[in-house]
Amino acid sequence: MTKYNQKAQATLLLLTMSLACSGCAAREPELIQHVDTAMGTIISQSIYTAGAGTTVTEDIMAELARLEEKLLSRRLDTSEIYRLNQSAGEEEGRKLSQDMLGYLEQCLKVSEASEGTFDITIGDVVRLWDIDAWTLADSSEGYMLPAGQQIKEALSHTGYDRLGLEGDRLLLPEGMSLDMGAVGKGIALDNIRDYLNNLQGEQKVTAAIISVGGSVLTYGGKPDGTSWNVGIVNPHNTAQNLGYLSLTGEWCVSTSGDYERYVEVDGKRYHHIIDPRTGYPAANGVSSVTIVSRSGLESDALSTACFILGVEQGLKLAEALDGEAVIVDTQGGIHMTEGIKDLFVNQNERGLE
Ligand code: AMP
Ligand code: MG
Repeated sequence: MTKYNQKAQATLLLLTMSLACSGCAAREPELIQHVDTAMGTIISQSIYTAGAGTTVTEDIMAELARLEEKLLSRRLDTSEIYRLNQSAGEEEGRKLSQDMLGYLEQCLKVSEASEGTFDITIGDVVRLWDIDAWTLADSSEGYMLPAGQQIKEALSHTGYDRLGLEGDRLLLPEGMSLDMGAVGKGIALDNIRDYLNNLQGEQKVTAAIISVGGSVLTYGGKPDGTSWNVGIVNPHNTAQNLGYLSLTGEWCVSTSGDYERYVEVDGKRYHHIIDPRTGYPAANGVSSVTIVSRSGLESDALSTACFILGVEQGLKLAEALDGEAVIVDTQGGIHMTEGIKDLFVNQNERGLE
């Protein structure tokens, strides 16, 4: 390249940079949308930013991959949960990462508040039912129900109150295995929110709605000032929404439903939310629970616990942990905590109970 050309190019570059910068001061946030898969589910991101939105969406995907591969997966031997499960029965236990220690402490809090209906030590029972394989379309075909004796045996390896947490070390009793399936998506929402809060300057995101397999984070305020609408699926007709929650600001919304993962044997549905008191899918008159909370982990853990506890106790538990709940019973009735009644827009012909 000649000297003249170099100089001309440098001038052009300076000009472009100054034009770009004069532009950024006045730039309105733009909507960036991104759909992809991670953690075995669909991730959809809608982000408002005046900065480099695509870096943000890519960083979020990388964070979800890290969460799965390094921390939560039960299958991948790269994850901390995998290594912890390998350590069951070891006397000295294992040192936990700061992240994992935090997750376990929050999980134990929900286990205690929910009379053990939410229990991450359910791993052996989940494995016995083979729930991880139920996402396949033909998973009911040739499926063999576990025998009562096997369930009894697997249940004997569970119990959150038998987890040995000593400082930052975890002692997992012989035969016990951890399953973070009920909180993984909620933890993802917490981590995404923390990431968004830490963005600086031009990269800052002013508003976002991000769905991790149906668990939703709402963040900031939309430029047009309207609220976020988060749909609630009709568990009795999953092609339709029952209605939606109209939310403003930062919330985590998680749903547990008997339609999400199940097998059918002799015309009976066996779903993926196990009652740790029986070892069988929970059967307490509930079809779905949606929880709204400031905490992603708690919204996710509570949706599982409230499903198992049933309508009355479920509503009480949600309120006790500062969550709001919409519970749909097996008859199609809708039950809600007081704090959410004004935020739920019912689009179903059935009234509220
Ligand atoms: P969710 O859809 O959030 O209710 O989570 C259900 C998933 O959590 C299942 O697929 C299991 O992996 C696991 N799980 C099932 N029952 C329980 C339970 N009682 N406590 C904790 N995790 C559970
Ligand atoms: Mg859950």
